[in-house]
Amino acid sequence: MKDDTKLVHAGRAPFENVGAVNPPVYHASTILFETHEDLQNHRSAPTYYGRHGTPGTDAFARAIADVEHADHCVIVPSGLAAISISLLSFLKTGDHLLMVDTTYDPARSVCDQLLTRCGIETTYYDPLIGADIKSLIKPNTRVVYLESPGSRTFEVQDVAAIVSATKSTAGERDIVTIMDNTWATPLYFKPLDFGVDVSLQSITKYVGGHADLLLGTISCQAKHWPAIDRTRRLMGNSVGADDVYLAQRGLRSLSARLKVHGQNALRIAEWLERRKEVQRVMYPPLQSDPGHGIWRRDFAGGTGLLGFVLKTASEGQVSAFQDALTLFGMGFSWGGYESLLIPIDIAPYRTATQWKATGPAFRISAGLEDPDDLIADLEAAFAVFA
Ligand SMILES: *Cc1c(COP(=O)(O)O)cnc(C)c1O
Repeated sequence: MKDDTKLVHAGRAPFENVGAVNPPVYHASTILFETHEDLQNHRSAPTYYGRHGTPGTDAFARAIADVEHADHCVIVPSGLAAISISLLSFLKTGDHLLMVDTTYDPARSVCDQLLTRCGIETTYYDPLIGADIKSLIKPNTRVVYLESPGSRTFEVQDVAAIVSATKSTAGERDIVTIMDNTWATPLYFKPLDFGVDVSLQSITKYVGGHADLLLGTISCQAKHWPAIDRTRRLMGNSVGADDVYLAQRGLRSLSARLKVHGQNALRIAEWLERRKEVQRVMYPPLQSDPGHGIWRRDFAGGTGLLGFVLKTASEGQVSAFQDALTLFGMGFSWGGYESLLIPIDIAPYRTATQWKATGPAFRISAGLEDPDDLIADLEAAFAVFA
């Protein structure tokens, strides 16, 4: 089955539930057992305690696993929880982690503030390292972590080259590769198909899609499941039934929405590229983007998040620009139906590479509005740079 068909049918079983199209929502902590014997055998029940999930949340996890080509998926409270649970599932004291320099910056804080306390060492690496990742692998390297395109600057990683160099250097050892796939979603990139062991995403962004929930997922094949399942249970994470229901509703229209997000982002990127005030646009689907070749080779589409750098602008111009926009909201997160634009700092979040551009940088999350209106809004606000 193709993905668009899967998105409609995955995880649903109407005739197990009075024929209702959507799986039921269970508000349940305590699960009752009818007899003493059932209680003794609780581990073979579909659920025995709400914290571990219910048939309602399991339906969403099954749907995500299906689209990811994964054996298993677990839903966790946020994308950041997916990052920390994945890392803690495989790393222990004395281990070494290779972390991409362009990682989502709170993931950097997980490494620098949480993993350090556990005696786990992190080396940040250039996202464009490719097969040279092998030169950074040490005898105690246990995890190689990827994110592509990178946060803030959108570098496209050669995932296949990194994974194969890692596996061949690892030999008999198991070095686990983990990838944050939030930008592409499993519709436009399937990490497990590229040999990545663990695929995580912030469901808050495109799957949720309506700026009203926080969730994350971690997907993997059978081999790496016990470690992830054990860790998430021990961490006591559980997810709200209604949020999972909303995420599942978002999943049904994900493909249709992503097409519009991608078209609008490309229109905006091409418009920005023609502006004399703009030094560079960071969006891999643009022909001129340095990551375009690998993006075309590996990705099935482009989503709505892009960046751009101005040649120069004063602080006053930057704030006047933001205040002049009427359709682009100012706020964190992205992937909702509404467009957003915020200034972004880059240099402080890089240690293995150097950000050399001097002009101010911005990030746009292209929403589902008419692109002509979005461009007219940008055009009017660009007047402040005149
Ligand atoms: C937002 C984001 C996350 C974290 O997601 P939350 O659900 O907000 O915790 C992780 N990775 C990337 C790339 C993100 O943009």
